[in-house]
Amino acid sequence: MLRRTKIVATVGPATDDVQILTDMMRAGLDVARLNASHGTVDDRRRRLAMVREAANRANRCVGVLLDLAGPKIRIESFVEGKVMLVEGKPFVLDTALDPKAGTLESVGVAYKNLIHDVKGGDTLLLNDGQIVLDVDRVAGTRIHTHVRVGGELSNRKGLNRQGGGISAPALSDKDKEDIRVAVEESVDYIAVSFARDADDIEQARTLARRAGRDTRIVAKVERQEAISNLDAIIKASDVVMVARGDLGVEMGYAELTGLQKTIIHKTRAQNRVVITATQMMESMIQSPIPTRAEASDVANAVLDGTDAVMLSAETAAGRYPVRAVEAMAQIIEGAEKYQVSLGNERHRTEGQFGDSEEAIAMAVMYAANHMKVRAIVALTESGSTPLWMSRIRSDIPIYAFTRHESTRRRVTMFRGVYPVIFDVTRAKSTGELYDTLFTRLLELKLVERKDLVILTKGEQSGVQGGTNSLQILEVA
Ligand code: ATP
Ligand code: MG
Ligand code: MG
Repeated sequence: MLRRTKIVATVGPATDDVQILTDMMRAGLDVARLNASHGTVDDRRRRLAMVREAANRANRCVGVLLDLAGPKIRIESFVEGKVMLVEGKPFVLDTALDPKAGTLESVGVAYKNLIHDVKGGDTLLLNDGQIVLDVDRVAGTRIHTHVRVGGELSNRKGLNRQGGGISAPALSDKDKEDIRVAVEESVDYIAVSFARDADDIEQARTLARRAGRDTRIVAKVERQEAISNLDAIIKASDVVMVARGDLGVEMGYAELTGLQKTIIHKTRAQNRVVITATQMMESMIQSPIPTRAEASDVANAVLDGTDAVMLSAETAAGRYPVRAVEAMAQIIEGAEKYQVSLGNERHRTEGQFGDSEEAIAMAVMYAANHMKVRAIVALTESGSTPLWMSRIRSDIPIYAFTRHESTRRRVTMFRGVYPVIFDVTRAKSTGELYDTLFTRLLELKLVERKDLVILTKGEQSGVQGGTNSLQILEVA
């Protein structure tokens, strides 16, 4: 059986080798994530070119997500790249320090206003809450702290103040420039970091459209305001990312699991796609095998119904990028053998469908789940019919047959949907269409003769938004 839940993996210094990327794709990477918080625009263009070359070598369709830096506050760099902070020792954050001159005593911070946002008695969290500093006092450009929880601290890690209270708009000038580059490079997904409300998402969408593409927008849910505006944010976006690093800092990690389940459920109910992210296999940065708790975390996200699970530093900066993808794929497959209720069985049995396309998609899933159907084939232009189908739990693979490369790359994020190259406009008659379609399914070994498949298509094939028919066919 095919793996249904998809794998997003961050590329970075540890993946700067086409062979490693090719191996990651063979191991199951579906979407490559580039993080605009690290490195330069040229680094990202170079990495993107490597991703595309590796996808060719691996003969796989791989989506690309560009994660915008957003208004995250970060420390600058260390002379040695990293330091080991020791509990009880003093440590200074200095907004006037040379950005490359960090040591065990102090490190720079670019955000000049930090000295006004922070005061004695505050708690600061670094690297998604892994390191905790108690603020003693602020003197000029220097914030004097003591290390409460120590550990390794490397360049450009994020910094949060416990309880929030650091305000900045979601899209900076740098983010706007990164959106233009993303559009120029035909990136499939753009992620808005620290989105506060639906407006932030709409602004990113408008900028991408103006730059020339209908790039799909991911809302990273990682701050308190986003939880308050959750329904509107989901509605405004194409994909929602449960960004557990900053979300755990803002909301407290004790609430994360409940929040994750709520966000996944609500996002799927609104026909949107959902990614579960951050620290899924964190120990694999150093170790070739995950902990039981990590395996369980990935499996639980799968059982919650997430479309994709994500790897961050495990692949971007870890020692075992290929093994991390392999292990994740194995855990997903293990979890998918079990049917655990998502609690959404009534999801589409009540209320009205948005339009006839959605009605067709739902009718397909009802039929498919009550017959011995081997495959669902959606002839699609934009990928919206397979998206709707994939909101219903099913074991039956949904093949998105399309002539558009951008649509094929987009559907790599959808649970249970697989892209197939197919040019519907070539067929001169319905008979010819079925012939070429069956040939394609058979040559890819997706079906055998006499299998039943469900096909959806539009009367005028090749027109977006035209899906209006459902056929049950026996492969001849
Ligand atoms: P975000 O809040 O956007 O997730 P992050 O700092 O947590 O930011 P991730 O992309 O989650 O970044 O990756 C985790 C870690 O991997 C980073 O903190 C960094 O150490 C390393 N990393 C990721 N991408 C790069 C890169 N392009 N260059 C250098 N290091 C990187
Ligand atoms: Mg983050
Ligand atoms: Mg991260």
